[in-house]
Amino acid sequence: MSFPRSATPLQDVRRVLCVFAHPDDVDFGCAGTVAGWVDAGLEVGYLLVTRGDAGGFDDTPRAMMPALREAEQRAAAAVVGVDHVEFLDGYRDGVLTASIDLRRDITAAIRRFRPDRVLTNSPLRRWDRIAGPSHPDHLAAGEATTCAVYPDARNPFTFTELDLPAWTVREIWYSGGPDPDHLVDITDTYERKLKALRAHVSQTSHLEDLDGMLRARLAATSGTPGRLAEAFSVFHTA
Ligand SMILES: [Zn+2]
Repeated sequence: MSFPRSATPLQDVRRVLCVFAHPDDVDFGCAGTVAGWVDAGLEVGYLLVTRGDAGGFDDTPRAMMPALREAEQRAAAAVVGVDHVEFLDGYRDGVLTASIDLRRDITAAIRRFRPDRVLTNSPLRRWDRIAGPSHPDHLAAGEATTCAVYPDARNPFTFTELDLPAWTVREIWYSGGPDPDHLVDITDTYERKLKALRAHVSQTSHLEDLDGMLRARLAATSGTPGRLAEAFSVFHTA
């Protein structure tokens, strides 16, 4: 299963909510694009479903990991100019499902932040890259967020216990899915993306050549000599 061709992004977007399973997902997939949106005057917020408590590559005590990764994500967000960063409580890294509780919590965040655009993990698996993009938590976060965009957040008769007015998100962007076809040139914001990723010390400090690895990947995505790009699938949802 794959996505259809991307739609042309809406031109009147003012607010964007980025919903991701783990700290660092938004930075690996999208930080250059987010930095460009902030530069253009868009209001961008982050909603992290877990604190990445199953991540890390060293002997940091496991009990310290949630607070450590929350601090890393807040530092990374600051690098690209995002200061609205929320974390959900009650969801563990590694065992995420697209539950009704998760849909309700994402719906609450959407109804409060009132974004025109939502950017999230792909709910579709990439069979050519099982490791990384197709982590089951990513698929679950993407699926729950898609359900929150339609129909949950906009239906005034859904999750009435939230006591928040319904809100219609008009566009959704997916990161990490199969055959993404909407490229965003991030050559000018690349250094901030790199700095944001370095802020995730527990996740990236063991990588010998993060800069080289990223540049190779983003250059291949761009396909234009000397340019770097991130790729997405984009759909209208209103
Ligand atoms: Zn992740």
